[in-house]
Amino acid sequence: MAEFKDAIRAAGGKLEYLHQSDGRLAFQISGDMRALYMVAVSMDGLRLLDTVPAVGYGQAAVYPQPSVVAYVQSDEQGMWGRNCPACERYFRTTHIFHTSVCPYCAKPAPSLTFISKAQRLYIAASYDAFARAMLTGKNTSLDLADVTDATPAWHYAEEKQQTHFKCQTDGCDIETDILGIYGYCPRCGRTNARPAFNDAMTRMLTRWDQTDKTVTDQWFDIGVITWNGNAKIPPRAVRQLELPFITKMLQRRHILIHNSGIVDDDYIKLSSDKQVRLDERIRIPSNEAKHFVEVIREMGLNLLDGVEFGFEEA
Ligand SMILES: [Zn+2]
Ligand SMILES: [Zn+2]
Repeated sequence: MAEFKDAIRAAGGKLEYLHQSDGRLAFQISGDMRALYMVAVSMDGLRLLDTVPAVGYGQAAVYPQPSVVAYVQSDEQGMWGRNCPACERYFRTTHIFHTSVCPYCAKPAPSLTFISKAQRLYIAASYDAFARAMLTGKNTSLDLADVTDATPAWHYAEEKQQTHFKCQTDGCDIETDILGIYGYCPRCGRTNARPAFNDAMTRMLTRWDQTDKTVTDQWFDIGVITWNGNAKIPPRAVRQLELPFITKMLQRRHILIHNSGIVDDDYIKLSSDKQVRLDERIRIPSNEAKHFVEVIREMGLNLLDGVEFGFEEA
């Protein structure tokens, strides 16, 4: 899998319009291609008429007649770049037929209207190759790798901006690349928030279990201590004076799970707990446990608000 900042190349391949001895103009596609679909272009080259699944040899594709067919190949990862006709934002997906839903603004529209700007250029070049062959009587060819979808908008300076998700709706399985974390499946329109949330929780738990430094620091950068608020829900923050308590309780949990509750050097160093001595077995009084649950609930609300609403742009 390419890194998000890499330009994702189109696979190789070549389109040729070849004059046959019987006077027909045939086209031929050769080379190293991952996936293709067809777009029927009006005879005057001005309008895109329909998207058509590519078919194998000996099968007849059904598409509007008369029209000129352009083949749009996928990038190396089997995906196609898209621009939403409503919000114009760029994404990549394996879903290219029928109706598409924008992963960012959730507006549905015919898939034809999502064809990316780079691909429109390619389709125009493909139509031109056809027209040139018709007008000059000569064979023409077009390098499919000329279109790369290396759009400037996709090259982001910030790290970790791109999310790849596979839709988990039964029978959908569409794969999509978006900027940001949360988005809708272009085919079925379902949000990826649930799996993204689960992933975030899994990462958090893994980090918690693997921790060998200050656990609280790791909680801070996940966004559970504060929720910055939006139009409907006011800001919320765990009080500063709770932070040492949280640190202590997380360290207590750590030695309960990993050291049978026996105080070790790490616990003394990391918990700032002055009430215990080395090798002592800790106890958690019920009032502390109850208070910890309350704090955890507040942190959970902060996290959930961040998950549900955090992706709304300011
Ligand atoms: Zn959109
Ligand atoms: Zn889906």
